[in-house]
Amino acid sequence: MMIPLPAVTPITAPFWEACKRGVLQIQRCLNCGHKTLPPDVACNRCLSPGVVWTPCSGLGTVKSFSIVHRASQPVFKVPYIVAIVQLDEGCALFTNLIHCDPDQVKIGMKVKVEFVSMSAEITLPYFAPD
Ligand SMILES: [Zn+2]
Repeated sequence: MMIPLPAVTPITAPFWEACKRGVLQIQRCLNCGHKTLPPDVACNRCLSPGVVWTPCSGLGTVKSFSIVHRASQPVFKVPYIVAIVQLDEGCALFTNLIHCDPDQVKIGMKVKVEFVSMSAEITLPYFAPD
């Protein structure tokens, strides 16, 4: 049995395609330069529709985290770490930390993206200590 996976939409499809190739992409506004995730049809700062996908370093810092000890569904193996990772490019994403002892995780910890293939369509960008 597999964990529930994200649904690919026309807006998120380029993100998931890049993850399959081992590239983490964020959206950049051509008008104001704002970098963001999750993606949208327009810049969430200046509302310009001129947003493009751009690869990022895959490096970041743990901004916040929670250790889950009781899974919402039996398919999730506990404990696991849910985190908000602030990318070096400035924006943040919601993810899981892997290869990390829950007792060792700290806010400010340096992490690096690690892709895990879940299905033909979805490769998830998890993060591990760098
Ligand atoms: Zn903008």
